[in-house]
Amino acid sequence: MKIGIPQSLLYAYYFPFWKTYFEELGHEVVVTPMTTKGIIDRGVKASVPEICVPIKIYLGHVITLLEEVDYIFVPRFVSIRKGQFFCPKFMGLPDMVRYTFKGIEEKLISPMIKTNSDNIGNTFSDYKFMEKMFGISSQKNIKALEKANEVWLRFREYSKKGYTITEAMKIVLDGYGESSFSTNSDSNSSVTIGLIGYVYNIYDSFISMDILNRLREMGVKVKTFEMLEEDSLEKELQRMNNKTMFWTFSDKLLAAGYSFYNNPEVDGLIHVTAFGCGPDSMLGKLLDMDTVEYNKPFMTVRVDEHTGENHLQTRIEAFIDMLKRRKMNMKRGA
Ligand code: SF4
Repeated sequence: MKIGIPQSLLYAYYFPFWKTYFEELGHEVVVTPMTTKGIIDRGVKASVPEICVPIKIYLGHVITLLEEVDYIFVPRFVSIRKGQFFCPKFMGLPDMVRYTFKGIEEKLISPMIKTNSDNIGNTFSDYKFMEKMFGISSQKNIKALEKANEVWLRFREYSKKGYTITEAMKIVLDGYGESSFSTNSDSNSSVTIGLIGYVYNIYDSFISMDILNRLREMGVKVKTFEMLEEDSLEKELQRMNNKTMFWTFSDKLLAAGYSFYNNPEVDGLIHVTAFGCGPDSMLGKLLDMDTVEYNKPFMTVRVDEHTGENHLQTRIEAFIDMLKRRKMNMKRGA
């Protein structure tokens, strides 16, 4: 069977798990290409105008897969932390897809993900329905999940070593050596940026205009939330005395933001947010309000389906120049 996985939303966080799982079950995994203008246009056409840009893009990826595959994998993410939930768009994603594309029902594979940690392979019951769907034994299912879990945990370890998600995937899935990439730790850069943003924005080079690599090309060291240890994010959340945001990935970003504010190595924060995101309007404001208290510059980059590259490049360069001058002045004691 050909299983289609859209290269969008939580693809950047969970693809190593999903790919390994389906391949262990003997299926072929088909992934959409990276987001293109064509994919965005198709998604925009299929969506209601009010929805956030990442969901429009996701629908564009689903359309791209429709004719090519036997099944499309659209998980329903509900919770990966006790007492916390995903943004409603994730919880309702399979329904949104079902009611947008007539006749897609029989093609959908939609496990409900409800765990108490990021490790989504921990609750086998979420995948029990696959046994009937594909006529496989529980034993085979569990073995595939265990293997998927093992690969995903290795992938996470590389992220925590400072490799970007793209690099970590190449290492665990394509056999690249660690030395193929120069991680942040190798960098002698004079400026370090805490880059805040959902993986589906930061790692979608079309929508984020490849901000992470642009920064690296400018010689900037970049830290993102998934490069931090879960424990340290958890500690930041505890420190906030439950004044958190309720939505799992928004909270992760909030915790990462404060962790970067508290990290003397980090010189400034950039928040990448996509047009139409409700949780981000709060997340960005909360971090922005504390920029004075922590004495660290904070910049918001709002992207949509029309954002121009030149405009972004100019803003990033100006921000980095300002950070360099500020650092120099601080060293001089000015
Ligand atoms: S968190 Fe924001 S960007 Fe992500 S799905 Fe929800 S509304 Fe869209």
